[in-house]
Amino acid sequence: MSKSITIDINEKWCKGCDICVDVCPKDVLVMENFVAKVVDLDSCTGCMLCEQLCPDFAIVVNKSEKKTKSA
Ligand code: SF4
Ligand code: SF4
Repeated sequence: MSKSITIDINEKWCKGCDICVDVCPKDVLVMENFVAKVVDLDSCTGCMLCEQLCPDFAIVVNKSEKKTKSA
């Protein structure tokens, strides 16, 4: 894989609404003590659904891809 993904969850902002867990197609996230938690980062496709649908901006998906000088 040429992509490396990290997911940051701001536990102070997360209200435990469960939306990100629900939308993630890869079951990367679970709820733990009413806070979202990453349990399977390797399965994350970087689709950004969780970040886009979190109402509290508590989850951020970082994708760092190898950049090639092509343009
Ligand atoms: S969608 Fe946002 S607020 Fe809701 S559980 Fe996930 S990270 Fe927390
Ligand atoms: S970016 Fe997509 S695959 Fe990765 S945790 Fe969020 S919803 Fe799941």
